[in-house]
This record gives sequence, structure tokens and C-alpha cells, in this order.
Amino acid sequence: MSGSAPHGRVAEWPDPAAGSFLIVSVGADPVTAARTAGRTADAEAIGSTRLVVLDDVDHPADAAALADALAAARTGVRILLLGGRYDVLQAAARAREAGAIPAEITLETTHAVDLPVYCAHCRGTHRVAADPGERVLCPGCARLLEIHDHLAGTLGAFLASDTGEAPVRAGDRGGPGLGGAELDGAGHGDRAFVG
Ligand SMILES: [Zn+2]
Repeated sequence: MSGSAPHGRVAEWPDPAAGSFLIVSVGADPVTAARTAGRTADAEAIGSTRLVVLDDVDHPADAAALADALAAARTGVRILLLGGRYDVLQAAARAREAGAIPAEITLETTHAVDLPVYCAHCRGTHRVAADPGERVLCPGCARLLEIHDHLAGTLGAFLASDTGEAPVRAGDRGGPGLGGAELDGAGHGDRAFVG
């Protein structure tokens, strides 16, 4: 993923030379579902394809399912990660942690509502509703952070550090750039394993 934009790197999908495909689709929104169906059909036309559908990479059951799928993947697999920006970047980091090399991983971001941010102070990775270059209250330590335009691939998150300014009090929130309350996860009802 180094050097590439976090969005929509799909030019090489599906790679006709791949031995097999693993598609990980995260989130229940209609765009993700439609893209997943199309990409899965494209891959199945070429080779063995496994589809894993998750609600939220941070949900323990989903994280375990992702780890299982990555562990079962063989050398030569091509992995497509589909979904919102936070989930796709976090899934990519876990794929790398599991031994996948960047050339094996393709990201397709279907929305950019949320962003993974790594706080240099509380050393946590958080899901925030913001973009690089913006300011956000850290959901972990409540510092007012500036999100740098630097994606740390191994963390699957953008780096953020303290602005040195005091955060506004809770009752004063709502000003520009302070809309970054941690998002609630989606429901964890349906998940399916195919293939
Ligand atoms: Zn923090």
C-alpha cells in the first residue's frame, strides 16, 4: 500500500495471474454490497474465490473471522478489502500483520465517513469522523489532536498529535473541526461466510 492513495486502488483487480482470491467486505451499506457482488463475480470467473462478509473489523467475532481467513490464505492469493475507510485500512494492517505483502492487497473504499487515527499520546487507534488535516478530540485521551496527512501502513491509521490547545468544553462543542466524536459501531447481526 506504500505510496498509494487509501482510496480505490482497484486497477489490478482481479489479477489474472493470481492463484486464488480472498474478498473481505466490511459493512452493510448498499454500495459496499453491490461492489462486493461485482468484484466477487469477476474473481470467480478467474479462480478460486473466498468471500468473507463482516460488519465491523473491531467486533471480536469479525476480527476472529478475518484472522481465520487470512491464516487460511495461501501464497499467491490476492486480497481485496472493500468497505468504509476505517474498516478497510484497519483490515489492511491486519492482513500485513498476518504476512500478506502489499502487492497482494487491494483496497476499495466505498465511503470515507470515518477515519482510523493513531494518537501519539494515548497510543490508541480510534475511529473518528474526520479527514487528514482536520482537528479532532481524541476519543481515548480527550486531547485536541491534529490529524497529519501521513498514513502509517503498519498501524492502518493516520498519525495524530496534540495541537497544544485546550479542547473546548463538552457544552461548547460543535465548532468547525470538532465533530470527531467516536462513532458507534454498526449492528453485529448478520455475517456470512461463502466459499
Ligand atoms: Zn489520545
